[in-house]
Amino acid sequence: MTNYGYIGLGTMGSAMAENLIGTGANVTVYDLDADAVATAVQQGATAADSPAEVAAVSDVVSICVPAAEHIEAVLTGPGGIAEGTHDGLHIVIHSTVHPDTMTSARDTAREWGVPVFDACVAGGADNARAGTQLVLAGGVDEMPPIVSDLLDVYARTVVSAGPIGAGAAMKIAFNLMTYAQFAAAATSHDLLSSAGGDPKELLAAWKDAGQLGVLTEQFSGMLGLPAEHITGGFRAMLETQVGISQKDLSLAQSLGDSRPGTDTFIQSIHDAMPAIYGVHSASESPEETR
Ligand code: NAD
Repeated sequence: MTNYGYIGLGTMGSAMAENLIGTGANVTVYDLDADAVATAVQQGATAADSPAEVAAVSDVVSICVPAAEHIEAVLTGPGGIAEGTHDGLHIVIHSTVHPDTMTSARDTAREWGVPVFDACVAGGADNARAGTQLVLAGGVDEMPPIVSDLLDVYARTVVSAGPIGAGAAMKIAFNLMTYAQFAAAATSHDLLSSAGGDPKELLAAWKDAGQLGVLTEQFSGMLGLPAEHITGGFRAMLETQVGISQKDLSLAQSLGDSRPGTDTFIQSIHDAMPAIYGVHSASESPEETR
């Protein structure tokens, strides 16, 4: 039986790990947050005290920590995977990070004889929990069955993006489309409202014309919320989303060349994200609603 490891049990990692544990697999987990580890243990996982301990008992380790510096810490920091590496270990990184972070992780682990693959995930925590994510994977052509079988547990669809790092590049491009749609939806909503039109009918028109993806449709449903309803835990959640979106849009800006003018396009969406999510400060708001 394959032994799995999971490191990084936040919003996304906890849901992916829950799905994997639910298949009855042996899963050893680690996170800096002891509560996140305790939840996974209640679901049937085994706790480890470090990434090294996870690696030592695993055939495949999934990593879903926020950014490049966290991946580096998990790989080569104190108690990192470098201290628990062994023949037959495989590493899969699910974080949304720059492709260079993926190729650098691959180069680091190559010195231990351990293959690294990027398998970036889309679809949110609900799809992760249900094992119905969209997985954008790099290095599929070189992927052994022990890794591709794991991706099949996580995914409804695995897209072969290209060589290692291409999964991360595709995830950044994928997310740019999502955030550009959110920005367009919020802008259209506000323009129409201020001109006296009914945004609910605009939503219906978009749906009729097939212009809305699932995520943009969910997002558009929040656009009429009065500012005084965006408080407490809900506001904190939206602020977290703003942070993630701005990280992803900064990655998009650093990804590569694009046609003239698009840098300012990405920058303007990036800067407008607090207002797009309705969590900008009241002094910036021309109206009472987002
Ligand atoms: P999160 O902030 O909810 O969770 C990150 C987890 O990583 C935390 O539990 C934290 O304690 C842990 N962590 C950080 N450094 C660590 C270390 N050195 N060792 C062990 N654990 C460590 O983040 P998230 O929303 O789960 O996102 C994680 C990654 O997945 C990001 O790159 C994000 O862009 C990507 N992603 C998120 C979503 C989403 O819907 N949340 C969707 C797709 C991709």
